[in-house]
Amino acid sequence: MISVAEALDQLFALARPLGVETVPLLQAHGRVLARDVAATRNQPPFDGSAMDGYAVTEVAPGLKLRMIGESAAGHGFYQTVKSGEAVRIFTGAPVPDGATAVVIQEDVTRDGDWITIGDSPEDNDHIRPAGGDFRVGDTVSAGRVLGSNDIALLASMNIAEVPVARRPVVALISTGDELVMPGETPGPDQIIASNTFGLHALMRDLGAEPRLLPIARDNEPSLKTAFELARGSDLIVTIGGASVGDHDVVANLAPQLGFDQSFYKVAMRPGKPLMAGRFGEAMMIGLPGNPVSAMVCGHVFVAPVVRAMLGLPAQPAPRRTGVLSEPLTPNGPREHYMRARFENGGLVAFGSQDSSLLSILGKADALIVRAPNDGPRAAGETVEYLPLR
Ligand code: AMP
Ligand code: MG
Repeated sequence: MISVAEALDQLFALARPLGVETVPLLQAHGRVLARDVAATRNQPPFDGSAMDGYAVTEVAPGLKLRMIGESAAGHGFYQTVKSGEAVRIFTGAPVPDGATAVVIQEDVTRDGDWITIGDSPEDNDHIRPAGGDFRVGDTVSAGRVLGSNDIALLASMNIAEVPVARRPVVALISTGDELVMPGETPGPDQIIASNTFGLHALMRDLGAEPRLLPIARDNEPSLKTAFELARGSDLIVTIGGASVGDHDVVANLAPQLGFDQSFYKVAMRPGKPLMAGRFGEAMMIGLPGNPVSAMVCGHVFVAPVVRAMLGLPAQPAPRRTGVLSEPLTPNGPREHYMRARFENGGLVAFGSQDSSLLSILGKADALIVRAPNDGPRAAGETVEYLPLR
């Protein structure tokens, strides 16, 4: 049995980066920028006014100036302003040649074509210099998830087509004779397949392209059909059947169908029967079937793998530190991801840590991470956790 850290290292070694594709700017949100992109223009392209006011060559209390024209956004004034003159100007308009400052309109009294600067005009030229935001050639660096602010910047840089990492196609296969799809009517000995749906959502959050395949039954032809349907995907995630019981079809049959296993079993709770390897052109991760195990392994293993495939740094799920509101009993020999909630400004582990309880996972704010054989912990001690919200 290997440690969580060793399993992650092996998973990163199995993951292959995907290619680059170009998408229209409107579809780039949430995608990973795959190459540096450079501005094709200066912003602003001219010295522009930051305020509504008057463009002038000098500012002095009581100075009287004659207005010779107007410069508005999208309608510049293309004559030179001379001493004794002013140009009416608005925010975003080009500052005319010769002008060295914009006096805000609140500091001016106007009488027809004449303005007089007030007693204490602001000491600020209110001019945004050309290229003050960015210049031609300034770059946005590859390897970031594009958020709404990035999209605004790329638009401003006139980048209409964006090179992004191809989304990994992730095939999700539930296995089990006991499973039916949500919406179907289960028989008396059946339950609803939940894991594939939770993992589908997780994959969407991560920017992958999940494909929910039909449930594979606990027999070879059915699992074989599912793997055939998974062809063309970058990552195959099977759920359940990963132990070595008589009906554990993935562990028993996947190697015969071409799965080249790198490791099996990780020293963690929940989630021990985890396996991974290459399967033809795809990478495969076999998750345990217990619903909480499957989701926790999704956060701990599948999410970092997907991020690595997208060209993001190959790193474990980011942890935070928090303070315990209630004590914890000693941990066993496996790394434990304890479902916990925030209460009284700190973390409280749920009383039941059974790996089948989705109702508790749903209430959990965090997974407290306990190192193998971690001793008892008192209230007030600091622990590491994975945030779930
Ligand atoms: P297994 O690893 O196949 O023995 O499954 C362990 C437990 O998880 C069993 O109680 C299964 O019924 C349950 N299980 C397996 N796959 C799923 C799934 N996709 N959704 C919900 N429960 C599942
Ligand atoms: Mg099963």
